[in-house]
Amino acid sequence: METKINYDLRFANSELGFSTVKVITYHCKYCDRATTDKDMMVRHENDHLRLQKSENLYTTEDEFKIDLANLINKHSVDTDVDEYDFLLADYLCKCLENYSSTSKASKRLSGQDE
Ligand SMILES: [Zn+2]
Repeated sequence: METKINYDLRFANSELGFSTVKVITYHCKYCDRATTDKDMMVRHENDHLRLQKSENLYTTEDEFKIDLANLINKHSVDTDVDEYDFLLADYLCKCLENYSSTSKASKRLSGQDE
């Protein structure tokens, strides 16, 4: 996890005018995700590690899934559906695998696979 410190300019009130507010963001070392919630980032990075171990996700051979996760993150689809970008990417890849399997079965039944 990488930590970045920024100073945001905020309007305090009419007497004080503007003041700076220290904002710390935590950046995932496996993807583009960043948050101000440190505990959330710890859980998020642990999810990466757990998936790497259990499903060998995020290998260099799996570039499509990584690109898809980054695309989901870029368009904030993960925020819209309240799910991690890399889990959504994994889900969509499984949908494609399922479609491929169903399509093969359909062709087999209709005799198109010969
Ligand atoms: Zn991440």
